[in-house]
Amino acid sequence: MDKIKIHVLHTGEVCVSPDLPFGGEHCNLVKASGIFGKREERLWLPVSVYLIEHPKAKILVDCGWNRDMSPNGTFDKSAQIKSLGSRLLYLVNQGRIEKGAAIDEQLNKLGLKASDLDYVLLTHLDCDHANGLSLVKDAKKILVSSDEVVCAKKHSLVRYKSKWWKDVNLTEFKWNDTEGPVEQSYDLFGDGSIELINIPGHADGLFAVKIKNEQGKYVLLFSDGGYAEKSWKKMITSGISLDKKNQKKSLEWIREQSMDKNCLESLANHDPDVIPHTILL
Ligand SMILES: [Zn+2]
Repeated sequence: MDKIKIHVLHTGEVCVSPDLPFGGEHCNLVKASGIFGKREERLWLPVSVYLIEHPKAKILVDCGWNRDMSPNGTFDKSAQIKSLGSRLLYLVNQGRIEKGAAIDEQLNKLGLKASDLDYVLLTHLDCDHANGLSLVKDAKKILVSSDEVVCAKKHSLVRYKSKWWKDVNLTEFKWNDTEGPVEQSYDLFGDGSIELINIPGHADGLFAVKIKNEQGKYVLLFSDGGYAEKSWKKMITSGISLDKKNQKKSLEWIREQSMDKNCLESLANHDPDVIPHTILL
């Protein structure tokens, strides 16, 4: 089988309270939101998406911010409130996306259009992962776990806005395999090469993506199961959590997977130390 190529791309940045990524198990949602916190303490973190060129398909993992958040490539308060459809979400996380960094713009640079994508995999439906969906709505199939769709409906007042996937053809899937911390996963091709592994806690239907070659070597994209390498090294859970017990269990699993000798790279979506690069697997 040909090698698998993984492009680690950044589609702008997100500005959050330090408690959101690194609040730990005693942090509550209000503290993590940073609404009453000091603005000068906030952190700018990257928002990653991943393009996987697999012999069987071209796959995009997450979409990042929409260009309409930052029409001129700079921070734009009113555009953000409009794009997110929520003043509260704007208060929790601001974004900026420089010119050329939106996902459709980066695909173009790689000689691709959204319609060339066989799959878009949504690790979960938070704004910094799903707000850019309309930019890639022509992809052949856009997958999200049924658990995450239920979670988004349950928390639609505050956290999730269905406008991000309005006019987008989402396909829900149910777990069909048993890998991971809660023994729920989805084997995309039925050959174990792309496994979507439920890591609940931060969101109910959140999944990590494990990309494995024929030699058993793998790359783990653990999305928001942790916010940086130090999250699993020091067992620091994020402040935004729907289930603290599962969040810790998921992070323990991420730690175990990341320390495995077959793991070539283990990447958090918002790790400030990760720079865009390409992995050959
Ligand atoms: Zn995120």
